[in-house]
Amino acid sequence: MSDKKIPYKIYLEESEMPKQWYNVRADMKKKPAPLLSPATKKPVTAEELSHVFCDELVKQELNNTDRYIDIPTEIREFYKMYRPSPLVRAYCLEKKLDTPAKIYYKFEGNNTSGSHKLNSAIAQAYYAKQQGLKGVTTETGAGQWGTALSMACSYFDLDCKVYMVKCSYEQKPFRREVMRTYGADVTPSPSTTTEVGRKILAEYPDTNGSLGCAISEAVESATSKEGYRYVLGSVLSQVLLHQSVIGMESKIAMDKYGITPDIIIGCAGGGSNLGGLISPFMGEKLRGEKDYRFIAVEPASCPSLTRGVYAYDYCDTGKVCPLQKMYTLGSGFMPSANHAGGLRYHGMSSVLSELYDEGLMEAVSVEQTAVFESAQKFARVEGILPAPESSHAIKIAIDEAMKCKETGEEKTILFGLTGTGYFDMYAYGAYNDGRMSDYIPTDEELKKSINTLPKID
Ligand SMILES: *Cc1c(COP(=O)(O)O)cnc(C)c1O
Repeated sequence: MSDKKIPYKIYLEESEMPKQWYNVRADMKKKPAPLLSPATKKPVTAEELSHVFCDELVKQELNNTDRYIDIPTEIREFYKMYRPSPLVRAYCLEKKLDTPAKIYYKFEGNNTSGSHKLNSAIAQAYYAKQQGLKGVTTETGAGQWGTALSMACSYFDLDCKVYMVKCSYEQKPFRREVMRTYGADVTPSPSTTTEVGRKILAEYPDTNGSLGCAISEAVESATSKEGYRYVLGSVLSQVLLHQSVIGMESKIAMDKYGITPDIIIGCAGGGSNLGGLISPFMGEKLRGEKDYRFIAVEPASCPSLTRGVYAYDYCDTGKVCPLQKMYTLGSGFMPSANHAGGLRYHGMSSVLSELYDEGLMEAVSVEQTAVFESAQKFARVEGILPAPESSHAIKIAIDEAMKCKETGEEKTILFGLTGTGYFDMYAYGAYNDGRMSDYIPTDEELKKSINTLPKID
């Protein structure tokens, strides 16, 4: 098909929207290593997991075999409010870069939460409601997950308790108010409302908080109350499963126009958007049907794939969640407070970790001033003000497009534009004023937290 016929935005009809999520684990020859119980260090049972997570989500977490899982009708109805998300041909960016590359991005910022996180939040809230629970607890770092979950909980009339990393709570008061508007109860973490919070505060009184620490508080809060469960917005395999809707829609839209991406790029915090975007394409690669290059982009300040180790680690600072085998910097790793993006988690999805370890996916790390430079370039031609997290993917998409300019290759690049950056204007301000700095942890710093990894035989 001639290029001219490809519209700026490729939408799908409601009838073309995916009716099932795709579970990439089913096509992996080597499965991600099993989760371990923090108490026994033996593979965790569904029974044990069901104290923390909703029953149906436990099943999804442990399901390595079913390739497709039906999306319940109620969730599909909710998806219709803001999906399908547009797949955009970045004609203006291509022109600005003067590149022969064809650039596409899947834009997930078209809902009030401002990110892809709503895709999993609504699924998790739905299963909690189905189980007859009163409410859920969670952590939020940059605030997008807490916002998404607040929206999902208010839709299903569930109670929502959010532990928000303290520095974000202070830096992003508007995020907090959006959550409260949707009825959530928001507590800065570490707090004195939980035992683990009090313990962390005693040890580090001046801490800005971290995701791992907020997770511990949220888990404690859920497991110490009747009728509550904990939900997590990234890292877990169930979240990647829900986010596969991003990749499924992208693939349906691209197939419709006969477009095949050569390179697929996404930012990677815990790995959920990237995992979701690449899943159906990775499935083809795993089955030997097609080949693609996949690139995970992480911040140089929190480089779990590029500088971490592949080992069992705790998912949270308080060591109450199951252990997961993943690329990790150690659960005690505290990323620098000056980093603007929300990609600060110490570990990575076990699915992506395994794919990366097998060489099926690449990873690069980028510094934040370079990320904001790309964000600004993108905003000025494509109109959308990108989230700093998403801009990690923009940076590498631009780099790859510039390589095409040198070689004259007409590669097709697809990247995930996970969200908008309206709540990150302090970070943009720092960049605009030339006050932004790049922090890269030293080997010694990383060694210190990596040395505290649990010993598993
Ligand atoms: C949370 C978030 C991310 C990173 O999370 P993943 O689980 O790695 O996808 C990226 N972009 C935005 C906008 C986010 O809110």
